[in-house]
Amino acid sequence: MALLLSPEQELIKKVVADFARQDLAPDATRMDRESVFLREHVAKMAPLGLLGMFVPPERGGAGTDTLSFVVAVEEVASVSGTDAMYMILQNALVTNLAAQLMNDPEDEALLRSLLKGEALAACAISEEASGAQPDMIRTTVKPKGGLLEIKGAKSFVAMAGVADTYLVLCRGPSGPQFVAVPKGAKGLHFSPSESKLGLRGLPLADMYLNGVEVPASAALGESGEGWKLLDAPTDLARLGVASALVGLTQGALDMAIDFAKGRVQFGQPIAKFGAIRAMIADVQAELEAARATTYGAAALRDSQKEFKEEVLEARLLAHRIAIRGTKIAHKIHGGAGFMRDLPLERMSRDVRTLMHVWDAQDVTRSRLADLLLG
Ligand SMILES: Cc1cc2nc3c(=O)[nH]c(=O)nc-3n(C[C@H](O)[C@H](O)[C@H](O)COP(=O)(O)OP(=O)(O)OC[C@H]3O[C@@H](n4cnc5c(N)ncnc54)[C@H](O)[C@@H]3O)c2cc1C
Repeated sequence: MALLLSPEQELIKKVVADFARQDLAPDATRMDRESVFLREHVAKMAPLGLLGMFVPPERGGAGTDTLSFVVAVEEVASVSGTDAMYMILQNALVTNLAAQLMNDPEDEALLRSLLKGEALAACAISEEASGAQPDMIRTTVKPKGGLLEIKGAKSFVAMAGVADTYLVLCRGPSGPQFVAVPKGAKGLHFSPSESKLGLRGLPLADMYLNGVEVPASAALGESGEGWKLLDAPTDLARLGVASALVGLTQGALDMAIDFAKGRVQFGQPIAKFGAIRAMIADVQAELEAARATTYGAAALRDSQKEFKEEVLEARLLAHRIAIRGTKIAHKIHGGAGFMRDLPLERMSRDVRTLMHVWDAQDVTRSRLADLLLG
C-alpha cells in the first residue's frame, strides 16, 4: 500500500506515526482505565494540523487531502482508539462543517480557536428515535422574537458536557439546519457521561435542549439545504471509522506477531507453528484488502469522484477484519491476551465500540445493497 502514497502522504504517515507512539501511546491505558479525556492530547494534535485537515490553509487549517486524513487516523488508531475517534469527529464533522457553514468574523474566530485546540466543539446529530436515520430527527429550531428557540434532545454525543460549543442538527422551518449552541446556554443540560465498553477516554452523553434560545446568527449556513448537507461529512466520518478499524487491527496484529516470536512452547517460538503462521498471514492479507479499499475510497474523493459505494465497502471489509483480526490476536496470545496489563484487550473493546459509530454493520450492508440494487 505504501506505493500508493505520494512523498507528502508518506511524510504525514511517518510524522503522525512517530507522534502517536511518543505522545499518545503512553497515556492510552490511563485514558481507558480512568475514563479520562486528555485535553493536552488536543493541544499536541493542533500544531500538527490534525484538527483541521479539511480546512483550507488560508482559514488556518492544514488543507490536506482525504488520503492523508485516512493514513493519519490509521496511525493514531494503531495506538489509541479514543484519540483516533476524537480526530475523526473533529476533522470529518466539527471543523469541516464549521469551515463550510461559518462565515462571519465572529465565527472565524471560533474556527481558529478550534483549529488551535483552544476551544472544543462537538457535533450533535443522533437522537433516541433516529440513530442511523438523521432525517428522522425531532429536535426543532424556530424563530422566537428575533432569537432562535431550540427544543429537543440528542443522544450519544461525543464530548457532550466537555465541549465549549455544540453544532446541533435541528429541524428548521424550511429543512435541516445546524445551530451553534454554547455550553452555557440557558436550558441546555447534559446527562452524566456514559460508562462505555470501549473508547472509554472519550466523554459521551445525552443533551437536553429545553427551549434553548440563541441569537439568529447562531444558525449555520442556509436552512433548507436539505439532507445533502450531511452527506459529505458523514461519508468522511464513516471512512474515518473504517481507517481507525484498520489501524486498531494492525496494532493488535503487530502485537500478536511480536508475541508469537517471543513465546516459546514445545521447545520453539510459537511463530514456528504452521497454524500460527497461517492465521497471521491470512489476517495481514485481509487487512491489506480493507486498507486498499479505504485508500481507494479516499483517492476517489480526492479526484472529485463519487465515493459513497467505496466508503460502504471499506466499512464492511474493515468491520469484518477488525472482529476476526482482534479475535485471532487474542488466540495467538493465549491467556496473556485477556490480561489487562496488555493493551490488546483495550483495543478489542475499542474495535467493538467503534463499529457502532455512524452505522453498524447491518446498516452499512443495507445502505450498500440500496446503492447496488436500488
Ligand atoms: C462511541 C460513540 C460515539 C458517538 N458519537 C456521536 C456524536 O458525536 N454525535 C452523534 O450525533 N452521534 C454519535 N454517536 C451515535 C452513533 O452514531 C449512533 O449510535 C449510530 O448512528 C447508531 O444509532 P443507534 O445507536 O440508535 O442504533 P440503531 O440505529 O437503533 O441500530 C440498532 C441495531 O439495529 C440495526 N439496524 C438499524 N437499522 C437497520 C437497517 N435498516 N437494516 C438492518 N439493520 C439495521 C443496527 O445495525 C444495529 O445493530 C456515537 C456513538 C458511539 C457508540
